[in-house]
Amino acid sequence: MIYLDNAATTKLKKSALEAMLPLFTENYANPSAVYLAAGKARRVVEGARDTFAKGLNCRREEIFFTSGGTESDNWALFGAAEAMSRKGRHIITQQTEHHAVLNVCKALGKKGFEVTYLGVNSDGLLDPEDVKRALRPDTILVSVMYANNETGVLQKIDEIGEICKKNRTLFHTDAVQAFGHTEIDLEKSHIDLLSASAHKIGGPKGIGLLYKNLDTELPPYIFGGGQEMGLRSGTENVPGIAGFAAAFENRGDAKAVSELRKYMTDRLFKEISGCVLNGREEGRIPGTLNVSVEGVAGESVLMRLSSLGICASTGSACTSRSGEPSHVLKAMGFDDRRCNSSLRFSLNEENTKAEIDETIEALKDIVNDFRGMIN
Ligand SMILES: *Cc1c(COP(=O)(O)O)cnc(C)c1O
Repeated sequence: MIYLDNAATTKLKKSALEAMLPLFTENYANPSAVYLAAGKARRVVEGARDTFAKGLNCRREEIFFTSGGTESDNWALFGAAEAMSRKGRHIITQQTEHHAVLNVCKALGKKGFEVTYLGVNSDGLLDPEDVKRALRPDTILVSVMYANNETGVLQKIDEIGEICKKNRTLFHTDAVQAFGHTEIDLEKSHIDLLSASAHKIGGPKGIGLLYKNLDTELPPYIFGGGQEMGLRSGTENVPGIAGFAAAFENRGDAKAVSELRKYMTDRLFKEISGCVLNGREEGRIPGTLNVSVEGVAGESVLMRLSSLGICASTGSACTSRSGEPSHVLKAMGFDDRRCNSSLRFSLNEENTKAEIDETIEALKDIVNDFRGMIN
């Protein structure tokens, strides 16, 4: 199998698996218990918290473990809306967000909040000036993703953070695609809330984190025994947390991944006519490449690739099943033809040049076949 769908999920890293295994079979104590083994489990959780705090330039008390990116997004948005509803009920986000943000905004819309969905340009970029213009006295939250899951384009997070800070408006970013793939400095970027997930960086599924700035008030989202400083109850997923931290500590060489992506892009453009890049070339995460191939249906190409054991995607895993054209590419102003001929290849440090070569050769054949059928 050639796996080029790392934006959907990743293979568990060996270091993550090794960190997890003993926590299932040997050191499986509940961190809240009083005996020696519980102390060990507690130290695993707190050690992981330190790892993330150091890697993100924040304090350990600002890291909360959750069940993943979706929960972190839900907690951040529902929580901020509830905490700030005395100040106002206006929220700003963008049209190209992941559905874990978009559908929460939709639900908040039904609860009496007003949501502004900002557009992006054909590069996939949100203009920070648009954020500034959309701010109102009753704006309580701005939520803009760090990097897009379909195109890999990084937003101008520092500038948006600066604008929010000046306006004293909370700033949340869904950083699931950027986290572990690009340097994130929470202090420098003036981020109040940040969502991240383990399974996009070689960690296990079902574990993620929410960073919450000490100055940011957020009510609990899950109530119970008071774990995670009383804000996120439930027995800690100790193996998951350990695997997440190990994956983060052993993150791959971003430069090598970026070079492999560039190599793939160059070959695609040189050897297959009618390719266009979706999302600007500069300022993107290392591994994600989204390209439209004129005159072919993305879905059909994927099926043929799949029959050869090559895994890619047309967009996010969540929309590709619905058959709807990607809301991200639509927001970039592309017509249905360009949206429906899109392919997303997301690489990581596990991929090799030989795999890319094999994929390009397969693509050339497939595209020629489909074009031949039309002509
Ligand atoms: C994958 C993803 C999520 C969801 O994360 P889970 O851990 O799978 O719940 C949210 N946002 C973005 C941008 C993603 O890519």
